Amino acid sequence: MAILVLGGAGYIGSHTVYELIDASYDVVVVDNLETGYLQAVHPKCRFYQGDIRNRDFIDSIFNAEAIDGVIHFAANSLVGESMSHPLKYYDNNLCGTKVLLESMVAHNINRIVFSSTAAIYGEPEQVPIVESAPAHPTNCYGETKLAMERMIHWTSFAHDLKFVCLRYFNACGAHFSGEIGEAHNPESHLIPLILQVSNGKRSEISIFGNNYNTKDGTCIRDYVHVTDLAQAHILALDYLIKGGDNAIFNLGNGIGFSVNEVIETARRITGHPIPAKVVPRRPGDPAKLVASSQRARDILGWKPQFSDLEVIISSAWKWHKSHPDGFQDNVNVVALQNKSWE
Ligand code: UDP
Repeated sequence: MAILVLGGAGYIGSHTVYELIDASYDVVVVDNLETGYLQAVHPKCRFYQGDIRNRDFIDSIFNAEAIDGVIHFAANSLVGESMSHPLKYYDNNLCGTKVLLESMVAHNINRIVFSSTAAIYGEPEQVPIVESAPAHPTNCYGETKLAMERMIHWTSFAHDLKFVCLRYFNACGAHFSGEIGEAHNPESHLIPLILQVSNGKRSEISIFGNNYNTKDGTCIRDYVHVTDLAQAHILALDYLIKGGDNAIFNLGNGIGFSVNEVIETARRITGHPIPAKVVPRRPGDPAKLVASSQRARDILGWKPQFSDLEVIISSAWKWHKSHPDGFQDNVNVVALQNKSWE
């Protein structure tokens, strides 16, 4: 029984592959390496480089491999970029998912776990956010993820396909081995940016507004460890394999930390003063986003293990300290591999 992980060279995808391999699954990874890294791909999986918008390519994977379930991470996921290049997001995220679903239907592959996001909620009316809350994305990234969810829903309605959509809150942390972690280019997420200051790669961290209606005036987010997210994908897959019906689950700890609290914790862990300066609010940032993940706990039996902020930041710091420049460029990795084959 093989599981196909699309986007398995990316941040959450690569961590999920590590957990799947640890749980003895046979894993096939597909990634176009546009934003993923070859170095993040677990050595024990079978890796195919290619783009899911290419029907011949995705058909060839289903012809070559006996796939029992698909976990779909393959998408662009930078909020800022989605606002400046919306059509890139429609093309990759929506067209890619359309081709994937066509190929899955044609090959009678009928289980998919989909990587969704809390960005589909936009500015919430109530916190903690439950899955039935209205979806009003405030950026193009969230809009495309919502449309992907709906595309999967309607495909399921018409064909023999079951799905689980997992809506993540703020994914963070790194694999406890220190082998893989978060590496975006450009980096825009709070914890990696703070740790770049500790690493001497950045002189200070900007706090995007300190006049929100929160305990210390800075934004509150639900930071959830990437290993806990990875575990949820395995539980979702097992749920579908056991005949579970279509479902949507929020994944967060239900605990909110402010930007100031995150910076203060990073100061303690790294021993670096991490200078911070307050700058204007970032447009579109809600004051407080915290999940209710009760449904995932009740139905999937998901229990986040690493909700302590110190544990989250310590694991991220282990990765960033040992990989201050992230992963090696894919071109260099290929060149290195070719060299060793000569
Ligand atoms: N943030 C910040 N400075 C930064 C980056 C982020 O103050 O340089 C804040 C941001 O306003 C938000 C929180 O940190 O409240 C988390 O932002 P991130 O981009 O990591 O994730 P998001 O919540 O946007 O998905």
